Amino acid sequence: MVENNHAPTLSFEVFPPNSQVGVENLTDTLDQLKGLNPSFISVTASNHKLNYEETTIDLAKYVKDKLHCHTMVHMPAAYVTKEDVSSILNRLEKMNIHQVLALRGDIVDGFRPETDFKYASDLTKFIKSKKPDFTVTGACYPEVHPESKNRVDDIKHLKDKVDAGCNQLITQLFYDNEQFYRFQEECEIANINVPILAGIMPIVNRKQALHVIKNCSAHLPKKFTDILDKYQDKPVSLKEAGIAYAVDQIVDLVTNDVPGIHLYTMNKSDTAKHIFQNTASLFELEPAIEE
Ligand code: FAD
Repeated sequence: MVENNHAPTLSFEVFPPNSQVGVENLTDTLDQLKGLNPSFISVTASNHKLNYEETTIDLAKYVKDKLHCHTMVHMPAAYVTKEDVSSILNRLEKMNIHQVLALRGDIVDGFRPETDFKYASDLTKFIKSKKPDFTVTGACYPEVHPESKNRVDDIKHLKDKVDAGCNQLITQLFYDNEQFYRFQEECEIANINVPILAGIMPIVNRKQALHVIKNCSAHLPKKFTDILDKYQDKPVSLKEAGIAYAVDQIVDLVTNDVPGIHLYTMNKSDTAKHIFQNTASLFELEPAIEE
């Protein structure tokens, strides 16, 4: 395993709200996250081109200008052209935002549009050709991307993505750290040597738990499903147990030299704060950007 002598980074993911209530909640959330000095806050994007500038980019701008945090914009490529991407990159550069999570995006209802970017690696290569100084991050899947034929194919394509210019990777959520460690080893064997940040999503309510169970192809350890079963009708206990589970995962990952933890906050600052309070000394935290 690649030895990591630096303290790991802590970063958060937020998503643009789609209602007025959502906007108010998010503003509160961001104000709370600000004090936690994450390495960066990433902002998700819908895989449709619609409103990208008014949602993802505007929120990223808010994070940078109002919170003085570094930000990373997610950019799903399945529905955009080279021209769109060029114009977005120029806008980001003017805003002093230099971090992009280059994604293919999900294929909706099996419809695969003919676009300039078939895979995230195509987008990565394009971004690097236009803006070599940008940090490009890619997505990766410790338990294999659902469309992949097998693990070998998935790792080969990941290697292509890194060779196309990805500076680091962020994983899909997982609840079994052994899956992550196995994936790290496979990457090392395949000569994928960029930092792999572990994506952690604490379970904090029943709806989210049911969603994970139904849609997630991640292995759910017995310890985890026992928590969901036991506390499914006790919201406060479920939240506390879900946060404790995530803290346990994080402590184990950090002890095993993970380069970074990326927390899927689901726009819930109190969850992020609880986790932070229990793990802050383990991380290298970023001072706010100078005004
Ligand atoms: P790719 O890297 O292109 O891989 C997709 C599939 O194609 C994989 O099975 C891969 O093995 C295969 N493949 C790659 N290259 C080749 C090739 N040359 N030949 C054959 N097969 C190939 N989605 C959003 O819409 N918005 C978001 O904000 C968002 N954020 C995300 C953040 C993270 C950290 C993660 C892990 C995922 C996120 N997603 C998001 C979901 C992501 O868009 C989907 O998982 C999508 O299905 C795959 O995107 P990708 O960038 O991993 O694709």
